[in-house]
Order: sequence, then C-alpha cells, then structure tokens
Amino acid sequence: MTTDPDAVAAVSSPDSGAAPGGRESGSATTEAELVDAATLPGVPDEFQRLWTPHRMAYISAGREPMEQNCPFCAAPDKSDEEGLIVARGKTAYVLLNLFPYNSGHLLVCPYRHIATYDQATDEEVAEIGALTQRGMRVLRAVSNCDGFNLGMNQGAIAGAGVDAHLHQHIVPRWASDANFFPIIAKTKALPQLLGDVRRTVADAWEA
Ligand SMILES: [Zn+2]
Repeated sequence: MTTDPDAVAAVSSPDSGAAPGGRESGSATTEAELVDAATLPGVPDEFQRLWTPHRMAYISAGREPMEQNCPFCAAPDKSDEEGLIVARGKTAYVLLNLFPYNSGHLLVCPYRHIATYDQATDEEVAEIGALTQRGMRVLRAVSNCDGFNLGMNQGAIAGAGVDAHLHQHIVPRWASDANFFPIIAKTKALPQLLGDVRRTVADAWEA
C-alpha cells in the first residue's frame, strides 16, 4: 500500500539501470538515484528507519525451546547438593541462586515451566507464598539478617535472567552488607561458600 522500502531500494539499486555497467559495485550512490523521502507516501516523523529484513529469520524462528535448557527445570532432577536445593514442596521448590546478591540468596520456583506469576495455579501461588515465608524465617534464624528484598522480575526487559521460568527472589539483607566492591570492581564479596550455605539452610528448614 503506502510506504514500501523496496520502492526506495529499487530506485537506488545498481541494477535499476541508472548507471548501466558504468559503476563499480559498492561505489557511492549518486544524488540522482536518491529519492526525496518527502515525495513518498506516508507520514514522516523524526525517526530514521533501519530496514533489517535479514533479521526476519530470527523473528520467524521464535524463541529457543527453553525447556530443554532451563536451569530451573533441570535442578529438581539433581541431588539437593548438586542442584543447590534447600527444600522441595509439592508444586514448588527452593534453591540457592548460583549468582547470589548476598549469602543465602534463595529462589522459589514452581516445578512447572511457566514464565509469569499470573500463569501459576492457585495451589502454586499458595505454595510459593508459603515457601517464601518459610525461607525468610529460616534465613533470619541462621543468619540474623536485618531485612529482605523479595521480588519477581517478569520478562527479560524487567531484569529476569531466566525469564522463561518463574522464580521469586529472597535476598537477605544486613545493615553492613553494602560496600564499594560492586561499584568499583564489579565484584560481590560473599563470605560463605554456596555448599556451606545450602547445608545450613537445608538443615534449618528441616528442623
Ligand atoms: Zn523451566
């Protein structure tokens, strides 16, 4: 119908007959071959357009089948030690974040590979909530933390590292947990190894 990028491409193409055989391919397009965008149909605005039809292949292919490569689907099949799991419920489970913001950073995940909170069943919502509460109590008991950050990042744009599988963060906070390491060295200081944290939290969970 209206604005057709191919129309512009055809006009400026070396094969369009504007310069038959007289120009090396790759040479600059002459002014005579350019079309003033104002003469084309459509409504101009302040944006330039970068036409990228080659990217259509990625869009058409859709997202990668994450289920085959999802850390939160794979973890429950491993041992607690290997999967860093601290508790297993009926519809959801709790594991340590492999990339903790702080020692004791837990994730509560449904077993089902669902992306967003509104896809969870009533039973999953209830169990994710119950496991989150239990996780807070356990962390408070074993680590004496002063507060928590709880949250779910929904979608990659919102910061989810694994955006295809729902997970709730439980991050324990201490009054003295912040320093300049993350700012000046892109480094987090973590005083306890994951295996030790897992054992401590799992033991307290059982108790
Ligand atoms: Zn998954």
